[in-house]
Amino acid sequence: MINFEYTRASDVADAVRQIAADPKAKFIAGATNLVDLMKYDVERPSRLIDITRLPLKGVEETSDGGVRIGALVPNTDLAYHPLIAQRYPMLASAIMAGASQQLRNMASTGGNLLQRTRCAYFYDIATPCNKREPGSGCSAINGLNRGHAILGTSESCIATHPSDMCVALAALEAKVHVAGPTSERTIALTDFHRLPGDAPQRDTNLERNEIITAIELPARGFAQNYTYLKIRDRLSYAFALVSIAAALELDGGRIKEARLALGGVAHKPWRDPAAEAALRGQAADAATFARAADVLLRDAKGYGYNDFKISLARRGIVRALTQAANGTPQSQSNKKIA
Ligand SMILES: Cc1cc2nc3c(=O)[nH]c(=O)nc-3n(C[C@H](O)[C@H](O)[C@H](O)COP(=O)(O)OP(=O)(O)OC[C@H]3O[C@@H](n4cnc5c(N)ncnc54)[C@H](O)[C@@H]3O)c2cc1C
Ligand code: SF4
Repeated sequence: MINFEYTRASDVADAVRQIAADPKAKFIAGATNLVDLMKYDVERPSRLIDITRLPLKGVEETSDGGVRIGALVPNTDLAYHPLIAQRYPMLASAIMAGASQQLRNMASTGGNLLQRTRCAYFYDIATPCNKREPGSGCSAINGLNRGHAILGTSESCIATHPSDMCVALAALEAKVHVAGPTSERTIALTDFHRLPGDAPQRDTNLERNEIITAIELPARGFAQNYTYLKIRDRLSYAFALVSIAAALELDGGRIKEARLALGGVAHKPWRDPAAEAALRGQAADAATFARAADVLLRDAKGYGYNDFKISLARRGIVRALTQAANGTPQSQSNKKIA
């Protein structure tokens, strides 16, 4: 039994004041990850600051044609919101590929960004884990690492970030709005999560006394040619082995603009400018897609049980880009790319 205090934040400023006053306090939103971590004794907050009544539940158009999503918008509401379903269907598709209906009803937009890795050793307090206990070692590097990272790893940690939503947000160039004790700031989604390096205990660049208030999407939604392809051990209610958010703008048979982000392969949603550059200006065909996959995976490294992820990712990238080019976001493609 862990004893903790429970308080409610009255507004964003109060939430930030409360978290700044107690170094061991945690915000609680949908509770779908934090409470599990408390049950496993991985998280031991001194206080839970309930932020669920803060006015951060809106989805609104911005003056420059984008959309601002409040941090407390439930995942389900976001996926079904007309602005998202019509203008950012890749995001809707990624959200719907995650968790279960019940979990998506509870899970918040901000909480999804901050969910922690699903590395089994992280959840098992009887095993060494640098992310849970810095300096204790990494049980996964020579252990059961089938679900672990192949890109951006370090000797300290090979965990992956488990979110689906964040992969689409990275491809769409979303920004994260945060508020702290003295100021507000914006962090690009691609800079929000960190690589493990020698400090895997830090998942993100959010300071501990900051709160996520909103996510902002730019106007470009890639609603015509996109795919979110999630490859997992069973068809629903499983985390990605590899997932791919692929979005294209086409000019005839050529690629005008391309976005490619991968989930399940790194400590953060993996987006590689060189792979996107390998697509831009090229013919939208299988040879181009295979070249881009090779560029993206050039430094990929397996740890034994997860070696298969490298070829899975390569084939997944080609398939996702083919589907995107065909305008067929689902797994079956009805046209054949040359
Ligand atoms: C069985 C299961 C299967 C799942 N499958 C998937 C899946 O396939 N794909 C997927 O993407 N996700 C999956 N999830 C994860 C789920 O999406 C996350 O648990 C959820 O999005 C977290 O949101 P929450 O609001 O419940 O966060 P909480 O559990 O309330 O909080 C999580 C963390 O975020 C912090 N936090 C929350 N909101 C804020 C804020 N606004 N500002 C600062 N800090 C904040 C909390 O302090 C805490 O540290 C699964 C979860 C479960 C339990
Ligand atoms: S991969 Fe990371 S989270 Fe998993 S045991 Fe190693 S240090 Fe811990």
